[in-house]
Amino acid sequence: MIPVSIYIHIPFCVHRCAYCDFNTYAGMEKWIPSYVDALCKEITLVGNAAPQMFPVHTIFFGGGTPSFIPAIFIQKILTAIRSQFLILEEAEITLEANPGSVEPELLETLRLAGVNRLSIGMQSAVQEELSLLTRTHTPDDVKQSIRFARQAGFENINLDLMFGIPGQTMDTWKYSLDFALSLDPEHLSLYCLTVEEGTPLHQWVEKGKTIMPSEDETAEMYEFSMDYLAEFGFLQYEISNWAKPGKNGEWQMCRHNLQYWNYLPYLGFGAGAHGFFENIRTENVRAIPKYIHQINHLIAQAFPTSPANDRVLKLDFQEQMKEYMMVGLRLTHNGVQLEDFYSRFGVSLLEIFKKEINFLLSRDLIEWCNNQRNLRLTRKGKLLGNQVFIHFV
Ligand code: SF4
Repeated sequence: MIPVSIYIHIPFCVHRCAYCDFNTYAGMEKWIPSYVDALCKEITLVGNAAPQMFPVHTIFFGGGTPSFIPAIFIQKILTAIRSQFLILEEAEITLEANPGSVEPELLETLRLAGVNRLSIGMQSAVQEELSLLTRTHTPDDVKQSIRFARQAGFENINLDLMFGIPGQTMDTWKYSLDFALSLDPEHLSLYCLTVEEGTPLHQWVEKGKTIMPSEDETAEMYEFSMDYLAEFGFLQYEISNWAKPGKNGEWQMCRHNLQYWNYLPYLGFGAGAHGFFENIRTENVRAIPKYIHQINHLIAQAFPTSPANDRVLKLDFQEQMKEYMMVGLRLTHNGVQLEDFYSRFGVSLLEIFKKEINFLLSRDLIEWCNNQRNLRLTRKGKLLGNQVFIHFV
């Protein structure tokens, strides 16, 4: 049986960053204990409804800032998962952490609870850029977090970095990359800052107070990163993700995110969490009080649904094939495998998407690899990913 993945959403932050449109809240700490109780209840309800005890090979605590809540709650959530699912011995258990909220005691408890991978939101090594993003940590906090994490025994660490920050130059971007590389992370995620409606950053840009870099400038930073990180032995395996080889020679990719990109099943628990199981997509209500209320007062239909679901969508055959292409083409090294597509859908990818594939090949946006068994984005395609994905929407 294919092991499943579990995503746990922790929607609490010290404060709300100016660019953030994630489902997270500041000043809601009083809800943390009842939220964690509701989360454990949701895991138990969904687990009880499952036809069997599913093996789990990755768990991801995302947010929000999971490191903001006491580690004892993370322990409690993992205990709830263990009571309903079979967490495999080699499971990857990741927790997102913010520099500044990473103390040795917290890390020790997390390690004991089974967390074995940290994803740290570094964003930039330039204080002015961090201030513009209204992040509350400093570059020194990043260094200290890594030191504490290594001391606690974490051997798998990701750093999140951001490019396209107003005022950022190629020099400051390279400085941030060098800073990150000097900390010797196993994995790097590089994201382009986007201006989301409803955020303070959006207002600043609208009022002309903040000028965003041009598309050419951000493309230059992205292209530079591709070449630069390759020089340091990193493999770009997804549009925004790079991994280094581990002791066993295997690339230390984020196995949890690979589950999404390989179009494999995952369950999502918590406010606003998404799930995908047996071609059913689920999405939970976003607001914390509403989430807690629904968990405590409503009844779910059947596995994999939850009382907290806001939407449940059964995907038809066409939708599944399109989604498969959209997520699979994000994998910049492996791309989509023709054989895998056939074994899942019983039809040839080349027949179903003949027109789209020929067009994208002719525009040099995708290419063959692995002896013509896989299709993946070209360098140009990585820069223009959205123009590729739109063909499968
Ligand atoms: S720390 Fe992350 S999740 Fe929290 S407000 Fe800032 S960007 Fe959003």
